[in-house]
Order: sequence, then C-alpha cells, then structure tokens
Amino acid sequence: MSEFVSEAGNKPEPLAEPIKGHCLCRAVTITIESAHPEVDICHCEMCRRWGGGFFGGLKGANHKVTGEDSITVYKSSEWAERAFCRTCGSNLWYHFLPGKHHSFLAGLFDLPDGFGIEQQIFVDEKPDWYDLAQKSPMKTGPEVIAEAAAAGFEFD
Ligand SMILES: [Zn+2]
Ligand SMILES: [Zn+2]
Repeated sequence: MSEFVSEAGNKPEPLAEPIKGHCLCRAVTITIESAHPEVDICHCEMCRRWGGGFFGGLKGANHKVTGEDSITVYKSSEWAERAFCRTCGSNLWYHFLPGKHHSFLAGLFDLPDGFGIEQQIFVDEKPDWYDLAQKSPMKTGPEVIAEAAAAGFEFD
C-alpha cells in the first residue's frame, strides 16, 4: 500500500510539493502541482508501440511545461494526442482531448518514495512477456470504454 493513503479512506492526498521532470536531453521540463501520488498504467497496443512497453502516467491539478520549441505533438487518434521531444525522442505525455487531461510519463520525474499503482487498464491487450507484481484495480479495454461512455465521452 502507498504511504500516501490518507487515514480517512482509500483516496490518497495530492502531493503538497510540486514534482519536476525532464526529458533525456533536458530541453523539455515539466512541473506538476498537486500531483496524484499513484501511477496509472495502460497496457494497450498503442501505448506498447509508442513506448516499447506499458505506459505509466502521472496527473495533477496544474502543470507547467518549458521547451515548447522542442516538442512535437502527434494526434494518435480522433480523441488523443501524444507528445515527444524531437531532439532526444523522450515521450512526454498522453492528452485525452475530450477530458482535457494530460497524463505525463512517470519515468520523466524524480518521484518521492511510496508511489503505488492507481489502476491498470487495457489488461486484455497486455502481452504475455511481463506482469506487474503489485495488486491494483484491473480493467479491460471494453470496461474502460464503457466507463468513459457512461461519463459522457464519445469515441466515434
Ligand atoms: Zn529531449
Ligand atoms: Zn494505452
């Protein structure tokens, strides 16, 4: 269990201090304020092709990005964009357009100890060659899409 779990319940408190990250060549820096202290994992086929394995994402209430000149944004589907540093190739974020939300690559950041996994999604598309040992909520692609549709998002 994450050390950030609050006493009141199972919803962890946002981090009090901003977290800072950067790409491999440091042309791009990202600061997240009030970050959620858990990583969101996606096992879908697109994330795998994009990053070579699963995607681990971080989100927060606000973020600041520097080095815009080095960033390429790729529209990976009707509803999402993915950004990377055009100098060093580091992937930077996934942006779900209807929800306005950015999910930044966890690996870019120097994180405090104690981060856990919020959930694993698209577990039905996970390849056989790895498994994450931590216990966390698991959702299939159809379950995630049904949840998003129930929340009012449209995908076609
Ligand atoms: Zn870079
Ligand atoms: Zn994915």
